[in-house]
Amino acid sequence: MWLDDQVMRLAARGCRIMRQLRLHIVVPMALLGAGSVAVLASGPPPASGTVVLRAARMFDGTSERLREDAVIVVRGGKIVSVGGNPEIPAGADIVDLGDATLLPGFIDAHAHLTLEPDSDYYRKAYNELMRTQSEQAFYAAVNARKTLEGGFTTVRHVGARYFIDVGLRNAIDAGLTPGPHMLTAGNAITARGGSCDQAPFPPERVPPKTVVDGVCSGPGECREAVRSQIKWGASVIKLCVSGGVLSHDPVDVPQLTAEEMKAAIEEAHNWGRKVAAHAHGDTAARMAVEAGVDSIEHGSFLSEETLSLMKKKGVFLVPTITALDWVSSNAGNYPPNIAEKARVAGAASGAMFRSALRLGVPIALGTDITVRPNDHGKNAMEFVLMVRHGMRPAAALLAGTREAARLLGLERDIGTLETGKTADIVAVAGNPIADIGATGHPVLVMQAGRLVTKRP
Ligand SMILES: [Zn+2]
Repeated sequence: MWLDDQVMRLAARGCRIMRQLRLHIVVPMALLGAGSVAVLASGPPPASGTVVLRAARMFDGTSERLREDAVIVVRGGKIVSVGGNPEIPAGADIVDLGDATLLPGFIDAHAHLTLEPDSDYYRKAYNELMRTQSEQAFYAAVNARKTLEGGFTTVRHVGARYFIDVGLRNAIDAGLTPGPHMLTAGNAITARGGSCDQAPFPPERVPPKTVVDGVCSGPGECREAVRSQIKWGASVIKLCVSGGVLSHDPVDVPQLTAEEMKAAIEEAHNWGRKVAAHAHGDTAARMAVEAGVDSIEHGSFLSEETLSLMKKKGVFLVPTITALDWVSSNAGNYPPNIAEKARVAGAASGAMFRSALRLGVPIALGTDITVRPNDHGKNAMEFVLMVRHGMRPAAALLAGTREAARLLGLERDIGTLETGKTADIVAVAGNPIADIGATGHPVLVMQAGRLVTKRP
């Protein structure tokens, strides 16, 4: 542990310099040991000055309990005291929120800010083909602002073409445009024809993706694909190991070999990046868990054996109910081959989620927003849906705060309201444990001590 502390302290000092250089530093996981934290010097600039937040209650994310009479003092972008009777410095801004609850800023572990939802499958595909990435970046900036205003102060962005996610993150970190703190994956890594490859457009019309675009074959190329994402700005790696629902491949087929998964995961971990695996099918998910992945995204068809193995190894489930619920109940919007997959995966995922709860698998909130029309900024729907599918409200709140921070490797900085942490804070009206829907209408959003929104 001593070595860990030394490394963290050195990394923190390096971070301050690297932040000025607009670079990102990551401590290799091998140095930190299993389950340790990758330190990322990104995030929007912190606010100066002192702000005191008061509210009737607080969910600080350290347990499932609510505390009464919440007082949080924020200075220089950090939380300097929580609860008790703090000394209020002269000149501090005092914000009294009355009958509200203070919570840690929400975290979405499965976001796609760079894509546009559309209820019409064909119009969505057409827009994706016709817009340049620079045009799409303007949409992405609006989506980022909506997400932040929706109370989500951090997202893990799991896949974008042409590093548009990295560009967005850098613009947010430079204070050019408002948005959540982002972990970025660059291109998702996938097999040729796999769920994260593009649709089978005739190759003479749309050029096939390359290794830099994330398509790989064999362990060597998959390593190279990981290195390419890291070279151009990935702070997390997304691996697509099984078929997808909204793609043209069979949903439950394993698409990367065990050797390809191992090579990609080992390479990512060597560079201090965690790995998120898109997997609906059980066989592929099981292979990914055995190969050392850090989270399974979606997980529609996970068996109890695979879920138990995830629990044993501390692998997170990111259930993305927001997306799966919508595609299965609106399957008629899709071409027939996709519609059928949507119905089957949606139906399976509810039972899988209840099994995961029963078995105690670690769960982090993730929405896969960009699937449901007009959904950017409505990420808190996932809290409501997790509760509707059987999760305790307080456990759902932890999944979108402390647990998601653990999955992202940022638990020393965000995810709970504790002294020394970054002041990412949300307030919702009333009591969110009694009414989980309150998470969808934050009355205050603070990011790194800066007031983003405050509703009367
Ligand atoms: Zn996704």
